[in-house]
Amino acid sequence: MAEAAVKLTVQGTVQGVGFRPYVYRLAYNYQLRGSVANTSCGVVIRVRGTACQVESFLAALPKECPPLVSIRTLECVLDEESAVADGFVILPSAPAEIVQALFPPDIALCDDCRREFHDPADRRYNYPFINCTNCGPRFSLVHTLPYDRRRTTMADFDLCPACAAEYTDPMNRRFHAEPVACPDCGPRLFWHDEKALLLPRADPLAMAAATLKAGKIVAIKGLGGFHLAVDALSSRAVSRLRDRKRRLHKPFAVMARELDSIRRHCRLSPGEAEILSSPQAPIVLLERLPESTLAPEIAPGITDIGVMIPYTPLHELLFSHADTPALLVMTSGNLSDEPICRTNEEAFDRLGGLADGFLVHNREIVMAVDDSVGLCVADQFHLLRRSRGYVPAPVSLPFSLPSVLAVGAELKSTFCLARDREAVMSQHLGDLEDPRSESFFRSCYAHFQKLLQSDPQLVACDLHPDYRSTRFARDLGLPAIRVQHHHAHAAAVMAEHGLAGPVLAVILDGTGYHPDGTIWGGEVLQVTFKSYERLGHLEPVFLPGGDRAAREPWRMAAALLYRQYGEFYEDNRDWLPSGWEKIDPQHRRLLVKMMVQKINSPLTSSCGRLFDGVAALLGLRHYVSYEGQAAMELESLARQAEKGVPGLETDGRYPVSQAVRDTGWVVQLDGLLAGIVEDCRQEAPAADMAWEFHHWLIRSMVENVSLAAAETGIDTVVFSGGCLQNALLMEGFSSRCRAVGLTPCLSLRVPANDGGVSLGQAVVAGTRFTANLSCFQ
Ligand code: ZN
Ligand code: ZN
Ligand code: FE
Repeated sequence: MAEAAVKLTVQGTVQGVGFRPYVYRLAYNYQLRGSVANTSCGVVIRVRGTACQVESFLAALPKECPPLVSIRTLECVLDEESAVADGFVILPSAPAEIVQALFPPDIALCDDCRREFHDPADRRYNYPFINCTNCGPRFSLVHTLPYDRRRTTMADFDLCPACAAEYTDPMNRRFHAEPVACPDCGPRLFWHDEKALLLPRADPLAMAAATLKAGKIVAIKGLGGFHLAVDALSSRAVSRLRDRKRRLHKPFAVMARELDSIRRHCRLSPGEAEILSSPQAPIVLLERLPESTLAPEIAPGITDIGVMIPYTPLHELLFSHADTPALLVMTSGNLSDEPICRTNEEAFDRLGGLADGFLVHNREIVMAVDDSVGLCVADQFHLLRRSRGYVPAPVSLPFSLPSVLAVGAELKSTFCLARDREAVMSQHLGDLEDPRSESFFRSCYAHFQKLLQSDPQLVACDLHPDYRSTRFARDLGLPAIRVQHHHAHAAAVMAEHGLAGPVLAVILDGTGYHPDGTIWGGEVLQVTFKSYERLGHLEPVFLPGGDRAAREPWRMAAALLYRQYGEFYEDNRDWLPSGWEKIDPQHRRLLVKMMVQKINSPLTSSCGRLFDGVAALLGLRHYVSYEGQAAMELESLARQAEKGVPGLETDGRYPVSQAVRDTGWVVQLDGLLAGIVEDCRQEAPAADMAWEFHHWLIRSMVENVSLAAAETGIDTVVFSGGCLQNALLMEGFSSRCRAVGLTPCLSLRVPANDGGVSLGQAVVAGTRFTANLSCFQ
């Protein structure tokens, strides 16, 4: 029979995900000779056998891949090389000069390992570091590439004979599972008391469970850093955590023993259950049921709760103890907005006085990585924070880019390294206003640069001159391309969906710098990767006090009242927002003066600030303790109105109108403000007003973008910006756009908030650089 020989080059996520052993077993099954190797340009497979066997092998290869493998390209040529081994071999990794092959994210405990973990007869029974080629830590423990054990923190542990046998047997499911370990040779747990003293004779698991049962705080070393855990059903315990963490209201996430424990407290759709149990195992925002007994302090004023299930064997072990509560608050182990603690020493130092005990282990974490967070809207999953499980998996681009570094925005910081047709985004790095986050940004960038061996030709940053990321970019000495904030927001969605443009974009955001001197954030743009044009926007109002207005929503309410009634709104009105009298009268007077004299009061079309202002008009909140709080509470309130999702059915209470200005079509606030003030005076239910406000915003923006569509003939509309984390808006915009013949496009795995801006910057700057356009817009 005729013999055939082919050489395959496979690119994508093919390292550290069990791809080579899979190829080995497949070749073995088809009785092929040859080899498989990790190389600098991906995995190279050579096979030789009868034409029929080779053909079957080629047909099966992409079809039966292990769950984490993602093949991007597969190139197949006839193999000219004549020398071929007997049998099939896995060649050792070549030291790569340029590592193009990528390394995988951290992956949640798989079903096979979970089964062994719970099997008393298995040698890894209850072993909190069990893993295999399909699961376990990856990104968080890699020092350098190519990915193999001696370049990870598992190099500290010598394999025992039993583990070594599994590791070297190509037919075993732990063949080259780099972090493979067992109770005889792998990492161990330790318990430290509240003074961070090691208690060598204590049973760490029993101590942790008992401490949690007593309503106390345990610092737990997880996959990508420390969590602080308390009993989620105990108000006292959760309040204790809030006090100690100095976190007033910002929601905490919850880890539940299993899906059934979640169902007792939250509405859980099959789609949401699937995401929770996926290999990425993110936190999913779920609607809390009225009968839930979860401590209200977990997410004050918010209907949704962020929930996850155990994703490491250590979590599995913790929940298997009878004393451990079925639901635990699990929040990042840090003080307020600092980066998550990574090493034991860091945790003892920074969380001492905060935790009542420490459940730690001796497997080092190289890269701190927070939990990812997302939500399902109309059966689609949208990430709001892209970290553990997703990073560093690349985003595929619809076109090739030069090597570019994009440094993102300021809050919810990420950076992005793009090259060719791939963009690798960093994990969530926190708010760069915090000096610790800024140094985390720098060290994380150094790590990525080393791992990806990237050598950027240019750097992309925001137009905002004072962002720390912009300053970092400036100091690199590379050609810098500055990208307008909302152009980047739109481009991120376009890149994710492979849209070349031109498209229309509705960007509803907190704050975005624009050289025209006003602060943008409620924009309708026409966008290509190279450029953008403003076609419409929300009517600008004053932003009295600049950045302070974002922390004090009453200032935006004052700006809206000023817009509606002029400077004497306090004296002439028989109505003012509830709680207004509690605001220092001197501050109130000063604010009016600032607006009259236009001191520190730029104009803004920001939708985030409009949310703040409306929340304050409704008396919901005049000061916030975390970013986006007023908007999130306003959304939660609106959902209590039980009117369903805004669609086309009703006209809504608050009239919509557009005006033509030289900046495009402008959504007028008049009808909204008059309506809200009148409703407040009549003491209408606040939930109804909140819902009507959402409804008004959806109708206004869709009408505005429809005008732009009629003018340009473009009917694809991308939606992005921080306000697009709001499920009511996401659902409302989608349905209303479709109803008027527009095609809506929302971000999916790249956050709509500022966490996605780095990707947008990278594609805009890369495209401009390639096109040799002006670097300054
Ligand atoms: Zn596994
Ligand atoms: Zn072992
Ligand atoms: Fe933004």
